[in-house]
Amino acid sequence: MNGQINNQIIILLSLNFSENKYIYCKFPLMRFLTFILISFLFLTTSAQQQTPKNIIIFIADGGGYNQIMCTDYYLYGDSGKSPMASFPVQLAMSTYNGSLQSTGATCYNSKKFWTDFSYGMAGFTESAASATAMGTGFKTHNSMIGMNLDGNPMTNIMEIGKAKGKKTGVVTSVPFCHATPAGFSTHSKSRHGFSEITDQMLFSGTLDVVGGSGHPWFDNDGNAVSVPFTKYIDTVSWNKVKSENIWKYTESRNEIRLLASEKNAPEKLFMLAPVSGNLAEAREGKSIVPYDIPVKQTIPTLAEMSLAALNTLSSDPDGFILMIEGGAIDWANHDNDLPRMIEEYSWFYNTVDSVQQWLGAKGILDETLIIVTNDHECGYLWGHGSGGATFVLPANNGKGKLPEYKYYSTNHSNTLVPFFAKGPSSEIFYSLADENDSVRGPFLTNSEIAIAVKMLLGNTTHIYRSNPSSTKGVFLTATLPCPDAKIQWKADDKTIAGANLVQFFIDPAVFKKPVTISCEVTCGETKFTSQNYEYKP
Ligand SMILES: [Zn+2]
Repeated sequence: MNGQINNQIIILLSLNFSENKYIYCKFPLMRFLTFILISFLFLTTSAQQQTPKNIIIFIADGGGYNQIMCTDYYLYGDSGKSPMASFPVQLAMSTYNGSLQSTGATCYNSKKFWTDFSYGMAGFTESAASATAMGTGFKTHNSMIGMNLDGNPMTNIMEIGKAKGKKTGVVTSVPFCHATPAGFSTHSKSRHGFSEITDQMLFSGTLDVVGGSGHPWFDNDGNAVSVPFTKYIDTVSWNKVKSENIWKYTESRNEIRLLASEKNAPEKLFMLAPVSGNLAEAREGKSIVPYDIPVKQTIPTLAEMSLAALNTLSSDPDGFILMIEGGAIDWANHDNDLPRMIEEYSWFYNTVDSVQQWLGAKGILDETLIIVTNDHECGYLWGHGSGGATFVLPANNGKGKLPEYKYYSTNHSNTLVPFFAKGPSSEIFYSLADENDSVRGPFLTNSEIAIAVKMLLGNTTHIYRSNPSSTKGVFLTATLPCPDAKIQWKADDKTIAGANLVQFFIDPAVFKKPVTISCEVTCGETKFTSQNYEYKP
C-alpha cells in the first residue's frame, strides 16, 4: 500500500515558480479590462462562430478533482473515465468569494496552495456566493443570492434567457430553493430567506421549470409526515401552487418519467420530489459501500427530473437555459461520507450522460453549449499522508472497492475545481482561462461563466417583484447589468420624475388606472430597457 501511495505523491519541488510573472489575483478593474478586451476579440472573430441556442450548466456542488477520481476508481477501476473525460474543453476554475477580493487579501494563489497544505482550507466560498458569481458574473459575500458586494441585484443568466425569448429552468437533488438554484435565478440578501426565494422562484415569472426536493409532507426517507415541514415552501406558496393554475405541479415519479417523452410537454413544470432534505443522501442508515441502503422507489432521480425538464424547455423554438445541480455531493462531503459521495457523483454522471443522449435523440445536442463544473470543493479530500508541501492523491483499490482516502475538513476549501465544456462557442473559455496553476494548468474564475454567457447572448436589465405574493402593494426591483448603473423608471413609456432607485413602489394613490411600468438602466453609454410590467390596481 505504501508503494501505491508514494507513486502518487505530487512532487512540488520540481515546480518552477516565477515570482514576477505570477498573477496572484485579478482585481475587479483588471477583470473588467480583460472582459472588454476579450469581448472585442471575440466579437471580431465571432462571424464564423455559432451562438449556442441552448445552454446547460451542470454543477456538482462541493465536488472536485479528487471526488471525481474516487468515483472513477470505484465505478471503473481507473481515473479519467467520467462522462466529462471526453469533453473537448478541459480547464480549471477558481471559486473564491468577493469578500476576500475586496479586502485585497488572497484569492487563489497557486504557489501558496501547492507549498502549504493548510492554505487551501481557508478563505473559501460557499454555494450562494459561488452561484451568484456563476449566475450573474459578479463575485459577492458568502450567503448573498444574486446580489453584488454592495447588495445590488445583478442581472442573472436566466433573466437574460427570458429577454431572448428562451425558456429557463433549474433542477437539483437538494431542496429546489437551495443556494445554487437560487443564486442562478433569484435575488435575496440571504440564502436562508427561503420564503422570499421560493416566492420569487415560483411566482416572479423568471423560471419555466423548477425541480428538486423540499416537500413539506415527507421526511428525509420519503415517508409521509403528519405535520408539514414548511422551511422550504411556506403555507402561502404551497396553497398558491395547489390552488392557482400557474404550474403543472407533480410529485409523482411515474408522471415525471412520462413527462420526459410526452408529446405535449407542459408550459411550466414544478417537480417537487416526495422527500424533504435531499433525494437520497440524507436517508436513514450509515452506508458502508455505495448503494447498500436502498432509496425509496417513489423518489425520482436527478436524471429523471432533468429529462422531464428538457422536454418542457426544448419546446421553445428560441431555445433554453438550464442549470442542473448534483447538490447532495456537497452534503456527503460535509459528512465526510465517501460511500454516499460516490453514490451522488455516480448519479450526477448518469444525469450528464442521460441529458446528452436525450439531446442527441432529439437532434439538438449540436446546438447546446454544455458546461460541467463545481461551485467549490468540500471536505478537502486527498490521500493519506498529505501535509506541508506534500499532496497525496487518493489511491486506487480497484473497481467496486473504496479507494484509500482521507477527508481533511468538514467544510469547503479554496481548491481549484475542474471545468469541462463542449458544444457551440465552448472555445470562449480558453480566452477566459488566462491565469495558470502549476499543477492544474490554465484556469478561469467562477464569475466568468456568466461573463461568457453575457458575451454570447448580451446583457439586460430585468424587473421583478421580490415578494410577488405579498399583499402589501407592488414593489418592483430592477436588476443591474453593471455595478454603477443609472436607473430611470417609466410609466407608459414616460419618465417618472425622481424614480431612479433600484426599487420602485407603485403607489396606489398615484397609479389609479392600469399602467405599463418599465425601467431604463444605463451602463456607460449603453442603455438597457427592461421588459414591461403590467400593473392593474
Ligand atoms: Zn457546502
